[in-house]
Amino acid sequence: MKSIWRIITMIPEYRGRLAAVIAGSALLGLSSTAIPYLFKAIVDTIAKLTSHRIEPEQARAQLVELLIAFAALRFAVVIFNYLLARQADSLWLRTVSTLRQRVFDTMAALSIDYYERTRVGDVMDRYSTVTSITMWLFQLSEGTLAGILQLFFGISLLLIKAPLIGALMLVVIPFNFFASFRTVSRIKPFRRNWHRLIGIMAGLLSEMVSQMATVRSFAGERAIKNRFETLQREWWDTREVEMGLDQRAGVRLNLVNAVAVTASVGVVSLEAFRGHMTVGDILLVLTLTQSLITAVQPITRTINTAGDVDTSAERLVELLANAPTVLDAPDARPLEHIDTIEFRNVSFAYPGTDHPSLEDVSFQIEAGKILALVGPSGSGKSTLIKLLMRFYDPTSGEIAINGVDIRTYTQASIRAAMGTVLQDVALFNDTIEDNIGFARPGASREAIREAAEAAHADAFIRGLPDEYMTLVGERGVRLSGGEKQRVAIARALLRDPQIIILDEATSALDSESERLVQEGLNRLMRGRTAIVIAHRLSTIAGADRILVLQHGRVLEIGDHGSLLKRPESLYAKLHTLQHGRQPIEA
Ligand code: ADP
Repeated sequence: MKSIWRIITMIPEYRGRLAAVIAGSALLGLSSTAIPYLFKAIVDTIAKLTSHRIEPEQARAQLVELLIAFAALRFAVVIFNYLLARQADSLWLRTVSTLRQRVFDTMAALSIDYYERTRVGDVMDRYSTVTSITMWLFQLSEGTLAGILQLFFGISLLLIKAPLIGALMLVVIPFNFFASFRTVSRIKPFRRNWHRLIGIMAGLLSEMVSQMATVRSFAGERAIKNRFETLQREWWDTREVEMGLDQRAGVRLNLVNAVAVTASVGVVSLEAFRGHMTVGDILLVLTLTQSLITAVQPITRTINTAGDVDTSAERLVELLANAPTVLDAPDARPLEHIDTIEFRNVSFAYPGTDHPSLEDVSFQIEAGKILALVGPSGSGKSTLIKLLMRFYDPTSGEIAINGVDIRTYTQASIRAAMGTVLQDVALFNDTIEDNIGFARPGASREAIREAAEAAHADAFIRGLPDEYMTLVGERGVRLSGGEKQRVAIARALLRDPQIIILDEATSALDSESERLVQEGLNRLMRGRTAIVIAHRLSTIAGADRILVLQHGRVLEIGDHGSLLKRPESLYAKLHTLQHGRQPIEA
């Protein structure tokens, strides 16, 4: 129950209203304890009448009064119930939206490292628990306290009217609670496990959906299906054991209750036999006993689902407990203009790994220059960019902008100064216009069109069925590689950043498409500082500085000419590999 309580404490703003709903439902529940009493009074009056211990006139008057009381009570209950349900519903809406928003805000604030190690499906599964948890909370607030009060009053009445049965109930009812709690704690590990499995299955499905083209191209459906089936089987087994335990516990409890009710009926019959009870008393005691057993069932069910809800709540609390690992310093100031960027002996290992992805990297570039990053795959080029964008902080060393550590600037201002065109262009499943406009919220339609024109994207966009309003599909699947690149260039142009970060596409574009992309890129780089992850050396011959990385270390640094002059350099070797001959002259 710890996690459920944590969730409740997360929404303190509604605690007062929640207490009011609980109190209201308790009152409602209590009113129903009056009903067996009214029944008793009615039966007693009729019994007196039939045994001629009361005048018909008097009996009629009494019955009319009792019927009016009964009708008034029922009517009041209906109205009150309605008012309470309205309150509870509006409170539920608020609670659910607040929690959802909190999940979204938490996710939006988390640093990149979280996203690099988390499955989408798992996040979605945890997020979806918000509804079931809050539904349960309201079920609890609306019914449980009322039920408990009802039990309390019922047992007290029984203790007065039929002490033996009262005592029996005093043992049986708490036993119901005790047994339910015990069952919950016994099946908790199974529940935790199947929730985890559902998270993994959802993750697998979402990965398959978003990577369908890859799955198909490797004919990987069978393999992914097998993985899903294995998970499903594991889920099935876990669920079966859990349900079995739950059912057996339920049967045991029902047997105990059945024995208790039978014993009560026996005791009442005996007492009646001895003439110690009126007919009304018999009815009262029997109705009370039965209603106690009926009232205890929803409560034990709530306790039982509490275990399930607590597991969900635990997963939600875990999700909400994630905090950004890269934080702005309390006195961070905005970065206004970039003159120099400098890496000073920067080393970095990804969290959870001890193998450094960058080691002792130092270099400097000035505004307006082009820096090219070259090196085999896995040499640390993307990592270097991630550190510059402050997705991560270096493990040691320092990155300085204008001579000052980047940790003294706000993250938002650093990223605002940078625009990226990455290899794997990520687009939202939205219109082209919104995908470009995303770079500058509030940008006018004209500005978006201009950017697209400059990026050589306007012509192909106009050829699409709905032009700028065309939906691009999940991750932009409806566009070709070159088209996506040009949309990304338009987006970067619209943003008009000081620094442009390019990760050249490795996948070959056709020559026309490549020419258009290259022209767009040239326009984008003009007058800006550019950092280019280069895969084809021919495109970076004009770079002011080339950083050759290997195994996270800077192996060589210089411009195209000077690097080629050293035939033993990795750069020269890579150049030979790509051009098929030993370079003689730059
Ligand atoms: P490049 O961009 O040059 O291909 P990367 O910067 O992506 O290389 O990777 C450098 C090294 O860091 C590689 O060994 C890679 O496996 C590792 N790496 C990259 N991203 C992560 C990550 N999120 N977590 C752990 N290791 C990573």
